[in-house]
Amino acid sequence: ETTKAFIDRGEKSRDLNAYITEDFSNALLKAKSFDQKPNFDLKLPGVPMAVKDLFCTKDVKTTAGSKILNNFIPPYESTVTQNIWDVGAILLGKLNCDEFAMGSSNETSFFGNVQSPIDKGLVPGGSSGGSASALAANLTPITIGTDTGGSIRQPASFTGTVGLKPTYGSCSRYGIVAFASSLDQAGPMSKDVKDCALLQEIISTYDEKDSTSIDFKRNEYSKELTNNIKGKKIGVPKEYRVDRMPKEIEDLWTKGIEYAKDCGAEIIEISLPHTNYALPTYYIVAPAEASSNLARYDGVKYGFRSKGENLIDMYEKTRSEGFGSEVQRRIMIGTYVLSSGYYDAYYLKAQKVRKLIKNDFEEAYKKVDAILTPSTPSAAFKIGEKTNDPVSMYLNDIFTVPVNLAGLPAISIPAGVDVKGYPLGLQIIGKAFDEQNILNIAYAME
Ligand code: GLN
Repeated sequence: ETTKAFIDRGEKSRDLNAYITEDFSNALLKAKSFDQKPNFDLKLPGVPMAVKDLFCTKDVKTTAGSKILNNFIPPYESTVTQNIWDVGAILLGKLNCDEFAMGSSNETSFFGNVQSPIDKGLVPGGSSGGSASALAANLTPITIGTDTGGSIRQPASFTGTVGLKPTYGSCSRYGIVAFASSLDQAGPMSKDVKDCALLQEIISTYDEKDSTSIDFKRNEYSKELTNNIKGKKIGVPKEYRVDRMPKEIEDLWTKGIEYAKDCGAEIIEISLPHTNYALPTYYIVAPAEASSNLARYDGVKYGFRSKGENLIDMYEKTRSEGFGSEVQRRIMIGTYVLSSGYYDAYYLKAQKVRKLIKNDFEEAYKKVDAILTPSTPSAAFKIGEKTNDPVSMYLNDIFTVPVNLAGLPAISIPAGVDVKGYPLGLQIIGKAFDEQNILNIAYAME
């Protein structure tokens, strides 16, 4: 009945375009077989769940929002989704996302844009836009996304939901279509912090199949969740008071600071001096890694293939027709910054600045336990509003990208609304591997 209810809602809400692939009849079969042998000791017993279409799902089409993977049926399962099915969840289908997770509005998907259930003229955020929209519209009770520069936290903020980007290396990247390998992390998206903690403890496992997976002692986050944050030191970085920050974002931040104080936290002003360089650094590092990762889509091994007169012609036509314009733009930027003669000036420089950004956080964490900022510089914008202005689109990531560059965990929680009633989120950034602490602060503040 539960699975059927989520399927019914999915069918009635097709105008949102949240799904790329519905796997409803299989979901019903799995639900029936769960009913025949129910096991309520599992952490997600028979819980139906749709996931971002960036996770490879065995025998279920996985597109990464791209034409080039439109016919790709993976012969294997990603570790993160396997962890979810192992504790009893049932796959409902695959959710829309920006092409190869490149975007902030879900408008770069080959399968069309996604509407926000908050207001159908609004973007749900991106790149995990289908996940956020499906969650906010109750098409799935919980979900997972991926976050390379904000793709879990920004859509969570835009749709009034909770999203956690874990420490780099805590969730396996095995079987997730790669965008920028040194930044990509999978993470939970949910309606409240408790569900987020539960999902995080399920998906965060050490995995030999991912060479960057880290073997550390993982908490049972949901069991150790507490809203007692008395005496916690929370930093407020002065550099995040960016020029022309809308008043409503500033007010939201002030309200969050006051609320944290009421919960017994101590607020400390801190400085993250290289914050201004995070966005340009990200937009060198991420496209560089993307250009290398996307070299595998050549029309030979799998995916879409265009007819060509010879091999080179086939490569060119496949990639010109198979990739959308934002992906092509990133491949060109990435190839340029990695090319000999420009490598030192751009890529190497960016790597050095990345280290400075990481050092800033390390210095700050000598004084504080966590950092509180707005999640985004604005509420959700209108569909089409920024599609012709990539720089303004990129600026939306200003508060989220430093966290990925530093490999840290951060959570976005709903914290209020703007004048139009559109949701706004606050971000709590933690030390590496300190998910429990930011979940606790989020739990106290939600
Ligand atoms: N919006 C950012 C980008 O376009 C982040 C995307 C992401 O986190 N996957 O690169």
